[in-house]
Amino acid sequence: MKTVRTIAEVRQAVGEARAAGRSVGLVATMGALHAGHFSLIDRVRAAGDFVVVSIFVNPTQFAPGEDYESYPRSEAADVAGCEARGAELVFAPDAAEMYRGGSLTTVHVARLSETLCGASRPGHFDGVCTVVAKLLNIVAPDRAYFGAKDYQQATILRRMVADLDFPVELVVCPTVRETDGLAVSSRNRYLNPDQRRQAPALYGALREGERVIAASAPPAGEVVAAVRDRLRAGAPDGEIDYVRVVDPETLADVERTDRPVVIAAAVRLGPARLIDNVRVERGASGT
Ligand code: AMP
Repeated sequence: MKTVRTIAEVRQAVGEARAAGRSVGLVATMGALHAGHFSLIDRVRAAGDFVVVSIFVNPTQFAPGEDYESYPRSEAADVAGCEARGAELVFAPDAAEMYRGGSLTTVHVARLSETLCGASRPGHFDGVCTVVAKLLNIVAPDRAYFGAKDYQQATILRRMVADLDFPVELVVCPTVRETDGLAVSSRNRYLNPDQRRQAPALYGALREGERVIAASAPPAGEVVAAVRDRLRAGAPDGEIDYVRVVDPETLADVERTDRPVVIAAAVRLGPARLIDNVRVERGASGT
């Protein structure tokens, strides 16, 4: 496995893999790699793609006052983990390499970027879209792999790829969870033991919403109320940012739950902002 820091080196290494007849798969990460990231690497390998992992804490997707400076960085362990898991190329640029001479161009996916997490993290998804567009142009993969945990991100990127005709297939992979249900996240390490005990209530509450829909597919407002109640009970120190029942593609709030919906939630627990979601295929009256 090779670790490179420049765009030119990535293009060279990917070109060689292509010349050897390989297809190419990209896992884009901000490092502090964990089981969720490794599950994406496994998927690339299973597809037989040349496995490229990018590690870049992208400054432009952090809003002012967010945790850019303190975001966990552990490159040596990340590179070792990539190698152990079978990655073939790690691209770990610095910000000067990624944004040479500053950059005047951003990618904005309207509407989808402005709701849910976008409402409380101004500019976040523009930063994500811009860096992912750059990575897609740098690596030129056949497939790029993303986690369903960041459901809004995956939905926005799918739209970006369609709207701008990127010649890449996006593969969205299931959320990897701790045994108590908490979605694995680099930010979980911000939680103190008491907050960590409360954190699984987020997924528990979403599952409660799923049960409510399965039982009677009530109007979305009732589902939201049930999820909020469960979340407040299980994570009394949590500050709920949002709990929403949305259309899986448009991310717009829905009223009816007898068709596929996503229940998405964000909660601040001490220093960590946790997000999670469940996709519910069909409520009671639709089954
Ligand atoms: P990040 O390093 O947080 O930017 O995440 C990089 C990629 O890993 C994104 O596509 C995330 O959606 C994905 N990811 C993060 N956590 C998980 C998880 N628990 N399960 C599956 N994928 C994840």
